[in-house]
Amino acid sequence: MRVFACPRCAAWVEFEDLVCLLCGTALAYTPSLDEMLASDGQVLCRLRDRISCNWIAWPGGSEHECLSCRLSTERPDGDDPVAISQLAVAEYAKRRLVRQLVHLGLPVERREGDDGLAFVLKSPAGGEQVRTGHANGVITINLMEANDARREELRIRLGERYRTMLGHARHEIGHYYWQVLVDGTHRSPGFRDLFGDERQDYGSALASHYGGEGSTDWAAEHISQYATMHPWEDFAETFAHYLHIADALETTAAVGVSVNGPTGVAQPLAGSIRSAGLADIAAKSMLQVLAEWHGFSLAMNAVNRSMGEPDLYPFVITPAIAHKLAFVHDLVRQPG
Ligand SMILES: [Zn+2]
Ligand SMILES: [Zn+2]
Ligand SMILES: [Zn+2]
Repeated sequence: MRVFACPRCAAWVEFEDLVCLLCGTALAYTPSLDEMLASDGQVLCRLRDRISCNWIAWPGGSEHECLSCRLSTERPDGDDPVAISQLAVAEYAKRRLVRQLVHLGLPVERREGDDGLAFVLKSPAGGEQVRTGHANGVITINLMEANDARREELRIRLGERYRTMLGHARHEIGHYYWQVLVDGTHRSPGFRDLFGDERQDYGSALASHYGGEGSTDWAAEHISQYATMHPWEDFAETFAHYLHIADALETTAAVGVSVNGPTGVAQPLAGSIRSAGLADIAAKSMLQVLAEWHGFSLAMNAVNRSMGEPDLYPFVITPAIAHKLAFVHDLVRQPG
């Protein structure tokens, strides 16, 4: 994420802020400029008061919803405060996702007819199951996962190292881009070489994964155990991971964090941990990106441990995973 300045007083404001904390100016994020404006004179997203969406309305849209909110074709209505707060958490993650997709130049088209993208955000009700997932451009998010206690309980039960709403959004959008940018294209053979043949049966893969037959020897070639389930899941996990790294490196460059340590450690370890951040990920090869990322991830984990927190980055990138990330990098750099 880039850094934003208040348009009145130039104080640092966060992407999610509705108001400048220093001077009180109401703020409006404008995705076409990737800029924070004063809200005066802007047509604001109609969900601003309801879910704290700080974006301007999409120009030309009759419903006065922003680029991100207008992708949600189904969401809780009514006055249930729990449902509204869960929706706000999900949309908060989704705005960060949408801003990054636009920033990276990936197509973000609202669903019209059978094409494009739509989000269905809902909680289980009346005995109905809601499975977070993707089908033909429609991404369903189970809003129960916006509850921190519930999501953490699931993370522990499923033995996962990482589980966030932003991670869910980035994973599911990976399925969408596989379908739009890889399936049936010249990239398909390269995909199968790296991730496997996606024509294997998905239903039985799902059943054996949740039936406890998941691989225990997964870390050499997969970013997560979940990625071993099926080539589609491997791609979605890798795609999400790419977005994590790209966002974090954009942020470190924007705030001017560089890692020059550790000091007092024998070479060659010290020499391998120097990172200055990447403002423009597209200009670098994936190996260069990962070299930069290596230093930050080790440093951030060390700081987190000082605070008694788990590692910020509980992952290991092996050469096989780096090749998969390079496939995603090429796709993002040339999506056409
Ligand atoms: Zn201000
Ligand atoms: Zn909005
Ligand atoms: Zn998936």
